[in-house]
Amino acid sequence: MADYIDLHIHTNHSDGTSSVGEILDMLRKQDLAAFALADHDTISGYHEMQPLITLGDPELVPGVEISAAVEGDEMHILAYLFDPDNDKLNSALNQFQHGRNQRGRLIVQRLKDLGISIPFEEVERTANHSVIGRPHIAETMHRLGATRSYQEGFDRHIGKGRPAYIPKPTLDPPEVIELIHGAGGVAVMAHPLVDGMIRHLDMMVGLGLDGIEVWHYSVMHKDVARLKKLAAKHNLLVTGGSDFHGRGEPHQVPGRQQIPIDCLDSLKVRATEIRGRV
Ligand code: AMP
Ligand code: FE
Ligand code: FE
Ligand code: ZN
Repeated sequence: MADYIDLHIHTNHSDGTSSVGEILDMLRKQDLAAFALADHDTISGYHEMQPLITLGDPELVPGVEISAAVEGDEMHILAYLFDPDNDKLNSALNQFQHGRNQRGRLIVQRLKDLGISIPFEEVERTANHSVIGRPHIAETMHRLGATRSYQEGFDRHIGKGRPAYIPKPTLDPPEVIELIHGAGGVAVMAHPLVDGMIRHLDMMVGLGLDGIEVWHYSVMHKDVARLKKLAAKHNLLVTGGSDFHGRGEPHQVPGRQQIPIDCLDSLKVRATEIRGRV
């Protein structure tokens, strides 16, 4: 078995387009050692995937991507190796899901005020019981002919800074880190160069951040070494993944990033330490 992992994969339980089964088929062809689904605000994909894993399959690692609010921006924090049955974590995720639903309705109302009428039921149909995200709204606008492309929906209407943009419900970074550690998991700053989130690194380290995601399509090759150095300086672990969403992005193919398995071994050591503390 190869010694590579992919710790950042989205399914159609959040804003990805591929089912759990489709993802497993793709990964089986990649000869990976381990992977994590990192859906936004839900671990229902993990629960669906777990019984499908059989001998010879890559190891399935519990994962989720949670948003935190920082100075009006959104920081994504990845959690790994937590107890998937932890009550506090599950009730927080349920609240996020509820809040996303409400926010979806507000965006649809805002669009209507702007003269773009898409029924919320159609957004729900696109989402098909998954956690509602802006990609479902962009897809619905395109499907109903309100925009000429999926991307146009973001560029003109619902992208950050556009008139129908509404932020999603978030917690503050200390709350997110506490939630993850309380569930016995490790907390990792996702794609730290997106929106310049790396500038909050010192603050996050102070809160107990465990790692940063250094292998990600948003990180150029030369910056991987820079981020690794920064991680070493702060005693942080390094992780990575495809951030696959299934919309055909060539740089986001699951399992192809050649991320070494030692990263996961170190995460496991850290998770054991965290569990010893709580
Ligand atoms: P949400 O979590 O509902 O705020 O949606 C965030 C997701 O929308 C991201 O993971 C991206 O997949 C997508 N997204 C956000 N901004 C853009 C953009 N400007 N263009 C294309 N996709 C975007
Ligand atoms: Fe996403
Ligand atoms: Fe993200
Ligand atoms: Zn992601």
